[in-house]
Order: sequence, then C-alpha cells, then structure tokens
Amino acid sequence: MKLSLSNGIFSKLDIQNNFDTIKRLGFGNIEFNMKSIKKEHDTDVYREQKAYLASGLKCLTLHSAVFHIKDPIEVHQAIYYGKISLECARALGAPLVTVHSNVSKKLSQNVKKSCLNEIFNEEIKPFAKRIGIKLSLENLSFNSTGFGKNVEQLEEVLDVIDPKGEMGITFDLCHALETKVVDELLDNYGRRICNVHMANKSHQPFTERKPELTHFLSALDEYNYRGPITLELDHKTSMEDIAKTKALFDRLLKEY
Ligand SMILES: [Zn+2]
Repeated sequence: MKLSLSNGIFSKLDIQNNFDTIKRLGFGNIEFNMKSIKKEHDTDVYREQKAYLASGLKCLTLHSAVFHIKDPIEVHQAIYYGKISLECARALGAPLVTVHSNVSKKLSQNVKKSCLNEIFNEEIKPFAKRIGIKLSLENLSFNSTGFGKNVEQLEEVLDVIDPKGEMGITFDLCHALETKVVDELLDNYGRRICNVHMANKSHQPFTERKPELTHFLSALDEYNYRGPITLELDHKTSMEDIAKTKALFDRLLKEY
C-alpha cells in the first residue's frame, strides 16, 4: 500500500505553495483534488501541470470536481466538471480519477437514472476511455447532498453506469465509519477497491493505532490491496497532526 496525501487540504494556497508544503511534510505521492484549482479558465490546467512537473511529486490519483445535480437541466455542469477533471488527470499523468455519482439524493429514481445515463454513459465514460483513465466511484456519507452512501445506493448507481463491473471503488473510510457501513462495503467491493480515502469520522486524522483502523487495513490486505492510502483530512488539521499521522502510517503500512 502506498501512502499519499490529498492536496485538497491546502486548497487555499496557490498551487506552488500547495505542492511545496506537501514536500516539506515529506510526502512523495499525492491525490490531486480539483478543489485546489481556480476554475475560471480551462487552460489553467497547464499551470497545474507546470507546477506539478517541477515539484517531483507523484500524482497517483485525481479527485474529480463534483456537482450533485438537483435538476436535469444541470446535467451539462456535471459533465463539464467531469471532463475538465479528466483533462487535468491527463495533464498530471494520473491513471485513476475518483468520481461521485454526481446526482442529488433528492431526485426520483427515474430522473436519477436518466441523469446518470446522460452524464456517465454518454459523456464521461467514453471520454475517460479515450484518454486511458480509469474511473473509481466513491462511497459518500449520510450528510452528503449526493447519492451513494451504502451498498444499496451504490448498486443503484452502478447498475446504470457500470453494468459490466469495470469501474473501480474509492473506499472512503471516514464516510463508511460515519454511515456505519464499513463491513458491508468491504464484503461487496473488497476486490474492486482501487483507492482509499483515509480519515477518521469528520475527516479527522488517525494519529494513533485504533481498532477500527487496523481492522480495515487487515481487511484490505486480505483482498491483496496494494493501491494508494490517501490521507483526506479536514483543512483545519494542524501541521503537527499531519506529521503525526504520516509517521503512524509510515510505520503501519510496513506491516502490510
Ligand atoms: Zn473522500
């Protein structure tokens, strides 16, 4: 398993300082979160690419910009966010993009279905395939506006957008703990996990070995998971706690 840090935690910094801070903390791998981009111009992606190439960091994954649409008229916005995220992943050489369902949990089942079809089957999936990027669907928390917090909801989404079972799963441990679905998700998607968002509830850092943490890591190991463990932490987390968390995971991941 490879330790990585989501750069969303430093999204208030400009991209240069964002990468510099990550390097000062001693991380070599990142998940690039689209929150850290100013979205005014599509061509900004070249600025991110330049800063990234100069940084020497390795971008293992990219977290798509997301827009949980509440009305079908907004479909084009979700498609735009998805495509510009894929363009950015291509520029940074990231092989995997984490996506949300992009539909609000308030939509009716039929409307959700037609929106999912339009966003993913007609646009995002063919585009990702053309540029050779794998998509990975993330489980959400109960307090998210989006749809997809447990196996039942994720299956409803995957039935429409991934009938052949080709998409990966981004397992967000924080969301799974909050929603109490850790084992349910592991049992159903253990073999499909290709990215992990790592944090305790409320995106607080794990700074010490906790039973729920080692239980989860052991389960990943049993599924032969060798992908990223992406620390996805609340932006108020102190530098000291980030360093403590990194030290803990440097030790823990040697055991797997
Ligand atoms: Zn997450």
